[in-house]
Amino acid sequence: MQQSKLGVHSVLERHACEATCDGDWVIHRCPKCDYELWDNWQTGEIKVLNAKANINHSGSFVAPEIEESAEKLN
Ligand SMILES: [Zn+2]
Repeated sequence: MQQSKLGVHSVLERHACEATCDGDWVIHRCPKCDYELWDNWQTGEIKVLNAKANINHSGSFVAPEIEESAEKLN
């Protein structure tokens, strides 16, 4: 029998973004908070506004190469 096990990382909130288009930009907006991801399909440029460290924004775009947090280097 298998229990659904919630890992320690499940404290992360999950929000699903909604995508809209504005010219060259595809804008993924979170209806639950002020997170926005702007994805320019022309240039490939990506901007993330109001990213939350403790909220996993899912639904449309995952950017594993974005730094999780700005750790200071010694
Ligand atoms: Zn959100």
